[in-house]
Amino acid sequence: MLSWVVRRTRLPLLSLRCVDCGSESATTGKGRFRVNANGKLLHVWLLVRCVSCDRTVKIAVYERAPVRSFDPAELDRYHANDPELVASTLLDPLIARRNRFSLDWTGAWRLDAPPVGLAEAWPVQVEVVFEDPVPVRPDWLIAQGLGLSRNEMLRRVKCDIPLRRSRIAGFTFTVMAGD
Ligand SMILES: [Zn+2]
Repeated sequence: MLSWVVRRTRLPLLSLRCVDCGSESATTGKGRFRVNANGKLLHVWLLVRCVSCDRTVKIAVYERAPVRSFDPAELDRYHANDPELVASTLLDPLIARRNRFSLDWTGAWRLDAPPVGLAEAWPVQVEVVFEDPVPVRPDWLIAQGLGLSRNEMLRRVKCDIPLRRSRIAGFTFTVMAGD
């Protein structure tokens, strides 16, 4: 079985309307958290910037959370703007929903797909693995990875999942020999 991998090449942008300039796009830049202690309560925000006017927007990660509920090592990672923590925070669907943004993955990911060669023993099975939760339409992805038009892809590919619906979970498909 061949393995294809979907992975991010950078952090996606946030689709988030700016109250100042009306732009619909914000970026984490290098990634910065703000941690504020208020007595025994902590607020943690991820700071993002409007891509057109640079206005800073605070994405709530924790609000009024008891200080003692934090592992000190975790707090250190927020203070240090740990890049992995920036990524996992940005990609956390609950945080996105609570803060009412979605992710714009345009140009922020790639498909690593070894070519399916002419010498293969047909049919060929391909497994698609998602290293990052990039929502992609399987029909588009498979056609792209095989270098086929969508119509030719549909003739040659057998797959049990809905091909037109974006997904972020792995799947497999089978490619039949061409004519
Ligand atoms: Zn703006």
